[in-house]
Amino acid sequence: MKISTDRCVACGNCIPVCPVGAIDIDPSIRRAVVDQERCVECFTCYRGLSTEHLNPTLVRTIRTVLGWVRVRFDPEPDVCPTAAIEPQELSWPRIVRRAFSDPLVPHESTGIHGRGTEEVKTNDVTHRVAEGEAGFTIEFGRPTVSASFRDISALTEALAGAGVEFEANNPVTHLMTDKKTGRIREDVLDERVLSAIVEIKTTMDRVPEILETATEAAKKIDTIVSIGVSTRCDDEGRSALEDVLHDEGFAFWRGKTNLGLGRRPQVTRAT
Ligand code: SF4
Ligand code: SF4
Repeated sequence: MKISTDRCVACGNCIPVCPVGAIDIDPSIRRAVVDQERCVECFTCYRGLSTEHLNPTLVRTIRTVLGWVRVRFDPEPDVCPTAAIEPQELSWPRIVRRAFSDPLVPHESTGIHGRGTEEVKTNDVTHRVAEGEAGFTIEFGRPTVSASFRDISALTEALAGAGVEFEANNPVTHLMTDKKTGRIREDVLDERVLSAIVEIKTTMDRVPEILETATEAAKKIDTIVSIGVSTRCDDEGRSALEDVLHDEGFAFWRGKTNLGLGRRPQVTRAT
């Protein structure tokens, strides 16, 4: 994202809108500027503020003159008064930032908006995770923190070393040069995203080992890592996962319970 130095009047309204703190006022030019390294191209500033098309020179003059008598002339807080926020043409590899950070843009590898797949939300239909298996969703970054693919690659490489199976349809998996090594392709390693999700699957008995591997790798990277573990319950609604997590010292909550209502109806063909 860019901010037009011709149009910006340095009102500061866009600063609190940015989830990663990439916008600041440069006092030397008295304009808002975007830190291109920090910006994750989420388009929140562009979409989140209404725009007026006031004349920038007129607004600056009014603000300066009123300032002499200690009167402020500020636009409404949800408005960029001069439509100064301008999307820039994104090419590879920077376009990856938007694919993972703007929830309104479908990811080209999955066709799904935002950063991940449907994970286990449709497990009743997809059967990705079966009884006796554990599915992991490992989420990198959060608003105000974000994550780089260099950090993500450090953890996926550690997981690959433990022999996990990466979900083929996951957008991060699509960026790997080799699923056996978990290495993310070189040209995107320095791209930052608001967040990204890695999905893997193991057998239930390997849950402690995978949690340990992910926890140790997460200590060496500079972002927040959140790990969710899921499984398929038996017909009585029980699973071994609760005991496994308790034994590892974790509290257990059923964060999302899939009731199976999405199951495809049986189709009977007439003969
Ligand atoms: S809201 Fe618009 S005019 Fe105000 S600081 Fe941001 S870009 Fe500049
Ligand atoms: S596109 Fe997103 S990250 Fe970039 S400056 Fe705007 S709000 Fe901040």
